[in-house]
Amino acid sequence: MSADRGTDLVASVVAAIRGVVGPREGMVALHEPCFRGREWDYVKQCLDTGWVSSVGSFVNDFERHLQDLTGAKFAVATGTGSGALHVCLELAGVGRGDEVLVPALSFVATANAVAYTGAVPHFVDCEFTSLGLDPVALDAHLRDVAVPQGDGFVNRHTGRRLAAVMPVHMFGHPCQIEAIAEVAARYRMVLVEDAAESLGSSIRGRHTGTFGRLAALSFNGNKTVTTGGGGAILTSDAALAARAKHLTTQAKVPHRWEYRHDAVGYNYRLPNLNAAVGCAQLEQLPAFLASKRRLAARYAAAFAAVDGVRFVAEPADTQSNYWLCALLLDEGLDDLLEPLLAGTNDSGLMTRPAWSLLADLPMYLDAPRAALPVSTAVTRRLINMPSSPALCLDDVDGEGLA
Ligand SMILES: *Cc1c(COP(=O)(O)O)cnc(C)c1O
Repeated sequence: MSADRGTDLVASVVAAIRGVVGPREGMVALHEPCFRGREWDYVKQCLDTGWVSSVGSFVNDFERHLQDLTGAKFAVATGTGSGALHVCLELAGVGRGDEVLVPALSFVATANAVAYTGAVPHFVDCEFTSLGLDPVALDAHLRDVAVPQGDGFVNRHTGRRLAAVMPVHMFGHPCQIEAIAEVAARYRMVLVEDAAESLGSSIRGRHTGTFGRLAALSFNGNKTVTTGGGGAILTSDAALAARAKHLTTQAKVPHRWEYRHDAVGYNYRLPNLNAAVGCAQLEQLPAFLASKRRLAARYAAAFAAVDGVRFVAEPADTQSNYWLCALLLDEGLDDLLEPLLAGTNDSGLMTRPAWSLLADLPMYLDAPRAALPVSTAVTRRLINMPSSPALCLDDVDGEGLA
């Protein structure tokens, strides 16, 4: 591509994003939280009653609401999504000396949760449609490296047990979870979903996070719904749910006055104060989702007319929450990524590239990996665009808004 055409493309993208988000004061954030519901009221109730910590009615209400919303039989609220992932893996039986297959393209928390258990992340490639773990590449890689041993499989290069696979629903787009589940079952690996980004996303009506034995959600400040910091473990297995609650509350044996602990537990419970914010946020989720999907439709329409880029749309048969809207540069246009990031940010439109590949981070340089051509291409050609729930909120029904 000529320098002129590159400059034209950057100008077209800036104009398209500006056309969608409209004239706004100051920098348009990538994803900022929106508090237009009963947040103040619920937080005040916590302060007025003194129930601010890990016991309180908002925690229970928040969990019940998550169950209703996702269809998971149990939800256990945690202080962070990272903590939820950690406990999910521990409950999946992952431990020291195991390997867990994860996408190389994700937020660092995915791989870190594996490391917390003493296991090693084993990186696999993603596919271009959902940007999630590629079940075909996973299967081909396992045919190459997995050998049967005992009642499971080990990596023939490292001798370590292949204990679990943990795909991610990237930017809120459901990955090919059913095909991944089929591969996981064939190799006797537990399926755990990193659904941190995909609250409100589903596949033919079935919510993400209900396909694996366990799943983690996140309510960090930049996610679709926030509790300041927070997360949740989803499962439909009563024993695992009970164990999740036990481990996230320092494994304290219930008793009126005795302090006895029967395992190495964690202080991972979500405080009631944060759950209060979460309850108010979940009431607004339908409006947030409608707003985010409207924003995505506008981006899709605007970029249909721009040569050289593709708006990343939800895969067929799925409903995405469009947590972070994304653009992919066409093949061969890698050189335009930096000018595009500079041009948009200089124009007051916050954009950012995909995360660096987890497999390239210093602490994971020795971790096993498959070939990663698609993940590598995505890191060189993707930008995330302003995606806040408030951007189109005035155009949707005010359900749940005070
Ligand atoms: C946000 C996120 C997490 C971690 O959540 P925290 O609540 O920030 O600890 C994990 N995985 C992915 C893919 C995420 O985007």
